[in-house]
Amino acid sequence: MDKEEIDVALEEKMALLADLDGTMCELDHSGDPQKGRKAVNYMMLKLVSGEIVALPVCEFCNDELEKGQTGDFEWYLLICTQCQSTKWLYKENCLNDYPKQVHFIKSCPECDFMYQNVITDTIN
Ligand SMILES: [Zn+2]
Ligand SMILES: [Zn+2]
Repeated sequence: MDKEEIDVALEEKMALLADLDGTMCELDHSGDPQKGRKAVNYMMLKLVSGEIVALPVCEFCNDELEKGQTGDFEWYLLICTQCQSTKWLYKENCLNDYPKQVHFIKSCPECDFMYQNVITDTIN
């Protein structure tokens, strides 16, 4: 991703952050009892089309993603590149060892392969 694209994404993120009131985390908390937490930040995803998608994330998700930047994290985040659905996987329960915290998968149980906007990268 080039610098200009990152600048555009960050500018969009700043605009969204200004109006975060009432927004809920959009990452999958199905394994977590505190589902539906208030969003405190955005995770930016770049699609193959060049479009940028902003996913609201709560404090838990945000903290965990920050830990991922240092490599000292407890959860993997799987993101489906077809349908953009997400899933947190507890590292200790995970059979696979992924090189990075955020792991892109080509399809998932939610997917019907009708989506055209495929994610290529994250922007933090
Ligand atoms: Zn969350
Ligand atoms: Zn999917």
